Amino acid sequence: MALRTIRLLGDPVLNKVCREVKEVTPKIRALIEDMLETMYEAQGVGLAAPQVGILRRIVTIDIGDGPIVMINPRIIASDGVQVGGEACLSFPGKAGQVTRPNHVVARAYDENMEEFEIEGTELLARAICHEVDHLDGHMYTEFVEGDIYEAAEEED
Ligand code: ZN
Repeated sequence: MALRTIRLLGDPVLNKVCREVKEVTPKIRALIEDMLETMYEAQGVGLAAPQVGILRRIVTIDIGDGPIVMINPRIIASDGVQVGGEACLSFPGKAGQVTRPNHVVARAYDENMEEFEIEGTELLARAICHEVDHLDGHMYTEFVEGDIYEAAEEED
């Protein structure tokens, strides 16, 4: 495993649409391991492949309940509303208020390309929305209500 360089806001790679993963090759497997290591090292709760410069539809999330790897994730249902602070490893030290659904259901593939469904509320719902946005080239900063503020504790 190896740490990868996290791309920062303004890097054009963060605004591109990622391609689907068709097969978990050794290279993809290594990417996933590196993403997890990079996410934990940076103390983030989520990381998307474009944040390490790879335009593939892969995200890793850990809100404190263990690692979740989602390949080709898609949100199939969402409801409710939550308004709260959100941050991003590609924009360190900053946060902003973003409205998200309070509950989402997503489908994705695991590292064996087995499809699974995941349901999340609150922070997990927020993290899933945030990371899936990255795969379509979107940063939370596009959705911030009000000002971006300094935040050390809310890396997402
Ligand atoms: Zn992010």
